[in-house]
Amino acid sequence: MLVALVAFYAVAEETEKSNTAIEVLAKAPEQPTDFVKKTDEEWKKELTPEQYRILREAGTEPADGDVYKEFKNQGGGTYYCAGCNAELFTSTEKFDSHCGWPSFYDPSKARNVKYNVDYHLGYARTEVVCKRCEGHLGHVFEGEKFDTPTDKRYCINGTVLKFVPAKDEGKKVEATDDKTKEKKKE
Ligand SMILES: [Zn+2]
Repeated sequence: MLVALVAFYAVAEETEKSNTAIEVLAKAPEQPTDFVKKTDEEWKKELTPEQYRILREAGTEPADGDVYKEFKNQGGGTYYCAGCNAELFTSTEKFDSHCGWPSFYDPSKARNVKYNVDYHLGYARTEVVCKRCEGHLGHVFEGEKFDTPTDKRYCINGTVLKFVPAKDEGKKVEATDDKTKEKKKE
């Protein structure tokens, strides 16, 4: 009986979520104007252990995890680097690839990402790196026949993104009784 109880509490604790998997900010963070260089010690202090593992050690978050679920449920907005706040992606280029990780077909600010070839899995993959802080973000794959304008899939770790919901998302509530309001042009 006691063993069963202990086991139950262990499971309950493990599944309990303390906070959101992707940090959400109320407004756009200040953009870095130059390259962001820090020591490993400084990065360890600023980042969560999981963010450090991904950004600084080219780790990968678990597929289909809480991060992916949160990402799929997020509305319009902009995604920033959790390491240095550089703008990386927006919901405009977001698409559902069903791969288990946040996917975009293009970065929003090409000048904030750079590419390296890595052979960690024994074959060449194009690594996507934040140009400002050199943090590992994920990989980009091409020619997979997704119905997107670029046929590219930026497979990105949501753990290393910060999300700022679009202003319109918050205003929806206030504007609901205004039925004559013109629909926003896309
Ligand atoms: Zn960065």
